[in-house]
Amino acid sequence: MYNPKSLKAEEFIDHEEVLASIEYGEKYKNNVEVIDEIIEKAKLRKGLNHREASVLLACEIPEKINEVYELAEQIKKDFYGNRIVLFAPLYLSNYCVNGCVYCPYHRQNKHITRKKLSQEDIAREVIALQDMGHKRIAIESGEDPVMNPIEYILESIKTIYSIKHKNGSIRRVNVNIAATTVENYRKLKEAGIGTYVLFQETYNKESYEKLHPTGPKHDYAYHTEAMDRAMQGGIDDVGLGVLFGLESYKYEFAALLMHAEHLEAVYGVGPHTISVPRIKPADDIDPNAFDNAISDDIFEKICACIRVAVPYTGMIISTRESKAVREKVLRLGVSQISGGSRTSVGGYCEPEPEDENSAQFEVSDRRTLDEVVRWLMENGYIPSFCTACYREGRTGDRFMRLCKNGQIQNCCHPNALMTLQEYLEDYASPETKEIGETLINREINNIPKEKVRRIVKENLVNIKNGQRDFRL
Ligand code: SAM
Repeated sequence: MYNPKSLKAEEFIDHEEVLASIEYGEKYKNNVEVIDEIIEKAKLRKGLNHREASVLLACEIPEKINEVYELAEQIKKDFYGNRIVLFAPLYLSNYCVNGCVYCPYHRQNKHITRKKLSQEDIAREVIALQDMGHKRIAIESGEDPVMNPIEYILESIKTIYSIKHKNGSIRRVNVNIAATTVENYRKLKEAGIGTYVLFQETYNKESYEKLHPTGPKHDYAYHTEAMDRAMQGGIDDVGLGVLFGLESYKYEFAALLMHAEHLEAVYGVGPHTISVPRIKPADDIDPNAFDNAISDDIFEKICACIRVAVPYTGMIISTRESKAVREKVLRLGVSQISGGSRTSVGGYCEPEPEDENSAQFEVSDRRTLDEVVRWLMENGYIPSFCTACYREGRTGDRFMRLCKNGQIQNCCHPNALMTLQEYLEDYASPETKEIGETLINREINNIPKEKVRRIVKENLVNIKNGQRDFRL
């Protein structure tokens, strides 16, 4: 029985309810009256439920799809302005005991190079990331209780936060590690993590069990209920995601929203972010072996429908996607992107030798961070290295309140400008710096409150004079 308030995976992601939502979408996908009603509701910016959103996703009427895209763009502008937050993944270890059939880290893969960073290696990687200009990273690791126990992850987080190289520092560490216990989530919270990210991969239990034939990740309920345990452990910023290409996208979409509704219903706060990874070629993995691949057009439609369904949830896209695809979905709702990423273990310090391969998947967008920053600005966005919210205790529902009260423009916008100024001073190429200076001078005027504008102007001068880490 479907019950969004239940703590049981099979009840809050009830298979029958997912199927009924897909059916509902099919039934109304060409019904202009129903679609208009749903679009009108979405315009209120309070979101849509999974059934309503499934109708928009299924809709085949070009004019209506365009309306959804336009609304997604408008909602994106209203809640996120033109800021795009930047981050990079840091792969700690690719030792893994699971058998995930789409992932090159799977235990049976004998030709991938297994690596685990020591604390000294991590310090070197962090310095390399700081020298690029990153302030926010997501740590990634395979699941291996012996090689990568929680103590290793916690020690790594401590090391990452402790490194201060030149003007650099990593100010927010998000964590993407396997589902774990409430106790371990509490430890991660105490270690000062930002968001806990865990991709569901697929919400379809039957497919899930086939795609994860061996290892602890095989347990569908344990994996699907991980965010509940994270919340119970005190982590109130959690990041959802599915790996598109494994199952039918309509199934994943409805279930993903049901997951978000479940968190909202039980904990009063929905997911902080939703990631939209698509399966990529990797060592021992051929994406063609999975027959649910989605086209770029469908991918864009998914992003737009997520944007209108959960307006307050950040949307993340990685370098799995090409520059061209990223450009399109940035417009439709994506608010965070990675840049200059390496998906190999230890990839930032030096490129891997020819005969080694520890990478998780092939990166499509191979540009440097400086190139990504410049490209964003050339496209009218403000690259943001802001990490203020969680450092000011604005997590979970406190962050959502900020969004809902429309205070983002007085808070996130100035923080974006100040952190961009730091980037320009410390890491940008001359060309990027020039474009950035012009952009900051223009964007200061878009801070609504006079007092905030004055403070920011003062801080920008202080940053040019060598001071760092201002935030509102
Ligand atoms: N081991 C952890 C877990 O089980 O969730 C950490 C995450 S793993 C390092 C990061 C994510 O990469 C996975 O959750 C999966 O969705 C994604 N991934 C795995 N294989 C991939 C592939 N071939 N192409 C694209 N993404 C992939």
